[in-house]
Amino acid sequence: MIKMRKYFSKLPEELKNLIAQVAKVSDDSRMPAYLVGGFVRDMLLGVKNLDMDIVVEGSGIEFAQKLMPKLKAKIIIHQRFGTATLSFGKLKVDLASARQETYAHPGDLPEVSFSSLSDDLKRRDFTINAMAVSISGKMDLRLIDPFDGKNDLAGRKIRVLHDLSFQDDPTRIFRAVRFEQRYGFKIQPRTLILLKYALNHGYLGLISPQRKRHELILILKENNPYQQIKRLKDLKALDLFCREFSKIKINRSLFAASEKQIAWFNQEYPGRRKLDTWLIYFMALIDGLTYVQSSKLSIALNLRTGEEKRILSLKSFSKSCLRDLSSIRITPPRIFVLLEPLSYETIIFLKAKYASLILKKHISDFMEIYNGMRVCVSGEVLQKLGVLPGPKYKVIFSKVLHAKLNGSVKSPQDEVALIRKLIKQ
Ligand code: ATP
Repeated sequence: MIKMRKYFSKLPEELKNLIAQVAKVSDDSRMPAYLVGGFVRDMLLGVKNLDMDIVVEGSGIEFAQKLMPKLKAKIIIHQRFGTATLSFGKLKVDLASARQETYAHPGDLPEVSFSSLSDDLKRRDFTINAMAVSISGKMDLRLIDPFDGKNDLAGRKIRVLHDLSFQDDPTRIFRAVRFEQRYGFKIQPRTLILLKYALNHGYLGLISPQRKRHELILILKENNPYQQIKRLKDLKALDLFCREFSKIKINRSLFAASEKQIAWFNQEYPGRRKLDTWLIYFMALIDGLTYVQSSKLSIALNLRTGEEKRILSLKSFSKSCLRDLSSIRITPPRIFVLLEPLSYETIIFLKAKYASLILKKHISDFMEIYNGMRVCVSGEVLQKLGVLPGPKYKVIFSKVLHAKLNGSVKSPQDEVALIRKLIKQ
């Protein structure tokens, strides 16, 4: 029997305390509890992981409700799945009832029924993700490894648990690549044969658009999105995933340039809205697609309205706008008009894609000076100055903003002075 004490002792204090609390609730309530899945895998690899998955032989929701007050955590209950998520600080704990799953058709969501830990591990994707650590019985920290996952971790192998695995759930094709590329492992030969068989039989096409979006985002959120995408493309998985992807060529340097500009933004503007970095890499991925093709792809992947908008605003950014942005003669108000309606993701991608140093400088200026610039004076002030509400307001405000962007108006007093002048005119 393998004990995990050595690995446990290397965890950060906050995780150790958390596991101790779970063990206490488990013993008090007589519901056996186990660490499972990615958390166990990363614990054995010595990789930091703050998302803890716990399986309970009993009700996961009831267990979460008992644990919640001890951790002073927020709870979200997913009644339909019999699971609950507790979150506090940077930590997240998912609690689930041990269950088994059966698949009626490839690509469908499984039918679920409550069961034992042993059945719960059988439904998992790969041997390295099908291990558990017992944390009941005064924290005995026993490794439960029915599929020899620890050995596969040592051999750096991604291996499915049975031959129908990819057929049951074709999203595992993406997951296999994700773990392979993330850890520098190899998909084990037989698993690769099964994966290719599933690809050749079109199972990947059966996944719902929602799940497609989810899998693609996970891939693009990895540390090495280019390698991930390249592997999927080489396996033809990307083309079979969505027809539009067969029309693209992957541009390695565009991924690298995107990474550089994301790092620039994060370093320069840590206080601003967090970037959806995956969306920038997505823009790099579909750089060769037209507006219409991108729009079709957005539908096939069920992208959210805001995501689609950001992508299409890039595709409709015209050549003449680019020319203006790359010209030394462009005025600040024009920079503002061009860039203010765009999202940060779109702007960062433009900065990554185009080599013009002048364009890059104008984007930096925009981020530094003009972004979010507004007129300070309100409509009320205009009214007090005798202007009746109407279309004139828009004209006056836009002239004041123009002057502000040009630097001829600096303070609110300057704004009022200019307004008085405009009224007289
Ligand atoms: P990551 O580090 O990317 O979060 P993870 O292994 O924790 O990886 P999750 O998607 O959080 O991945 O899933 C948690 C566990 O649930 C996995 O380790 C695996 O055991 C199981 N699992 C997740 N998705 C599937 C799937 N499609 N088929 C079978 N088992 C799955």
